Amino acid sequence: MQILTFVLGPVETNAYLVADETTNEAVVIDPAWDGLEISKAAQARGWRITQIWLTHAHFDHIGGVAALVKGVQPELTIAIHPADLPLWRAQGGAPLFGLTFDAGPEPQVRLADGEQLRLGNLEFEVRHAPGHTPGHVLFYCAVEKVLFCGDVIFANGIGRTDLPGGDYATLMNSIQTQVLSLPDETRLLSGHGEETTVGWERRWNPFLTQVL
Ligand SMILES: [Zn+2]
Ligand SMILES: [Zn+2]
Repeated sequence: MQILTFVLGPVETNAYLVADETTNEAVVIDPAWDGLEISKAAQARGWRITQIWLTHAHFDHIGGVAALVKGVQPELTIAIHPADLPLWRAQGGAPLFGLTFDAGPEPQVRLADGEQLRLGNLEFEVRHAPGHTPGHVLFYCAVEKVLFCGDVIFANGIGRTDLPGGDYATLMNSIQTQVLSLPDETRLLSGHGEETTVGWERRWNPFLTQVL
């Protein structure tokens, strides 16, 4: 598995271009902004972007979808959990921040907890982790020991729960059951900030010490 990280947009969101280098198929997890930059990087490596997976519908995670869709072939699919569709249709909350943007075509694939997603020869498990938003999901590749965790957990932080649809108790439960249940060596690739691991956050995350 090859992973390229882009830090994009008004609130420095991580977008991940993930490829199976044996088939050259690629997925973009959260095309945060500047979709053209992401598609050019894929082209330069000979990768074909076939899918977009959204951890959740906040505007800073979907702002690059429209440009990305224009830059690649038409059969690209966009996937989201149905509980975040209302947020997607509300421009990902952008109007709350005084912003408007082109969100691109509506996602046509509906994700469900426990579902397996395929990228070339790689398999990912969808893990529903509400609390930051109602339809937030994580993408877990057990063989590669990687969890793409969006805005659920960060290095030494957790997702905010003060935006519409957020709920603190729900988020803490999601972190316990869907993140901390994974092996310590699992890499956490978050929606913002540096990479971390399950083991590090289990021991040192100041927001989790009270529930351990
Ligand atoms: Zn968010
Ligand atoms: Zn975010």
